Amino acid sequence: MTRYIFITGGVVSSLGKGLGSAALGALLQARGYRVRLCKLDPYLNVDPGTMSPTQHGEVFVTDDGAETDLDLGHYERFTGVPARKNDNITTGQVYTEVLGKERRGDYLGATIQVIPHITNEIKDFIHEKEGTADFVLCEIGGTVGDIESLPFLEAIRQFGNEIGRDDAGYPRAVFVHVTLLPYIPAAGELKTKPTQHSVKELMGYGIFPQILLCRADRHIDVAERKKIALFCNIDEKKVIPALDVSSIYEVPLSYHAEGLDHQVMDAFGIKDIANLDLSIWEEIVTRIKEPEGQVKIAVIGKYTELADSYKSLNEALQHGGIANFVKVKLEFIESSVFEKEDPSKHLQGIHGILVPGGFGMRGSEGKIKAVQYARERKIPYFGICFGMQMAVIEASRNLCGIDDATSSEFDEDGKVGEHVVGLMTEWDQDGAKVAGTDKDLGGTMRLGAYPAKLLEGSKVAEIYGSTEISERHRHRYEVNVNLKEKLEENGVLVSGLSPDGLLPEIIEIPDHPWFIGVQYHPELKSKPFDPHPLFVSYIKAAVQQSRLV
Ligand code: GLN
Repeated sequence: MTRYIFITGGVVSSLGKGLGSAALGALLQARGYRVRLCKLDPYLNVDPGTMSPTQHGEVFVTDDGAETDLDLGHYERFTGVPARKNDNITTGQVYTEVLGKERRGDYLGATIQVIPHITNEIKDFIHEKEGTADFVLCEIGGTVGDIESLPFLEAIRQFGNEIGRDDAGYPRAVFVHVTLLPYIPAAGELKTKPTQHSVKELMGYGIFPQILLCRADRHIDVAERKKIALFCNIDEKKVIPALDVSSIYEVPLSYHAEGLDHQVMDAFGIKDIANLDLSIWEEIVTRIKEPEGQVKIAVIGKYTELADSYKSLNEALQHGGIANFVKVKLEFIESSVFEKEDPSKHLQGIHGILVPGGFGMRGSEGKIKAVQYARERKIPYFGICFGMQMAVIEASRNLCGIDDATSSEFDEDGKVGEHVVGLMTEWDQDGAKVAGTDKDLGGTMRLGAYPAKLLEGSKVAEIYGSTEISERHRHRYEVNVNLKEKLEENGVLVSGLSPDGLLPEIIEIPDHPWFIGVQYHPELKSKPFDPHPLFVSYIKAAVQQSRLV
């Protein structure tokens, strides 16, 4: 029997519902249950693929090639369960589906309405998960009270009512509401009123939360918990403080200490005396809190103004730090500064340089300068996706003598230079340009997991401990494989290729302490308890570098 946990948010956005859901998933897992997490997003976009990372944070890509919400990244990082395409649904997807059916005549002449047609579609999405886990946790995006959220709240209300109770009379769906208790300095106290209002609003939709997760920046007194319990019709023990912690990986331990998983069990009537093992989380937190050293990594990007735009990358770098017992300090540098200024001014005392994924020409020359600096000064360099493409352009120009090397991403008319990076369709087998290339950008991204073959004896093969890997992709352009020989003659090894040998997946410079570019996104698969080998190795190289400078 599958049980369902619905997580809603109230008062304000950015309360960390996604993290809270992920942490609860991890706690249930630690009790021996199989969990699955999904996200219902009320925005109108069909998926976040077209949203700027500065608006909505990173786009998280799944193995099966979906561009999804960044919360799915939290779910995967905390539970290790790979996220799938059908773990995320948006209003845009729901309407697309319903309108498609309407056009096909599937509704047999009925008038299409939000209730029941839209809500049924949402319920179907949840019903599909039946039997796939012991607990399905569904987070509802947005804040209670938003107009967009209404069909979702109505759908989960109906769902909870319809699946009803188990044989012992306990509910099969439990509602958890995440709220905020703001501290008002003048009064010197945490305020419960916004929480009361938010719960009242939820109750107005017919949803009666059994558990409240109360975010606060300080201790919540018993008196306040009693008050909330009284006004919100909730068992006092189920008003759970969710205090700020210094690292996100402390959240499972902190929620456990406040009794969250125990109270969830209780709400479902599960007499669980499992001796849950949280030692992996304890170990992770100890290593974060008591590092043996520190390394500084410069991330040279374009979306540096919003930390969430490189969420998985930031986390993967921290995982590399955890594995090496060091703290990883990130310095985000807007790449365009290198177009005007000497890089050395900004890169003093840096132990590693990383150029992450990116799109478009703006700032690209700055990234190429950063690559050159890392290559020449022998500073560990990690190029991810766009970062690998920039490394290939840099090597083509400065090592292979192709002065006008560029990417067709920057050269739509094909007038500016030689495309060492371009669309696959731009070259024939011999490397000659194909005339009349179709450059339609729509739906041409390589998305999701693809296998790659690594060169025996290469550094990456050693790092992975294997010559066959599978990694997640999200890009349109490829390094021109016809360049392989020339790159290798000049010291840049193409050490990973697609199985058909046509797409370069990895480059490395053997005569450099650590210089690797990958066409895929390894950060998407890294977990604190299972750090990605490339990040472990990269941070290790940064530690060695820190001993030199
Ligand atoms: N803009 C590049 C491409 O489309 C790189 C994309 C990325 O870094 N994810 O190929």
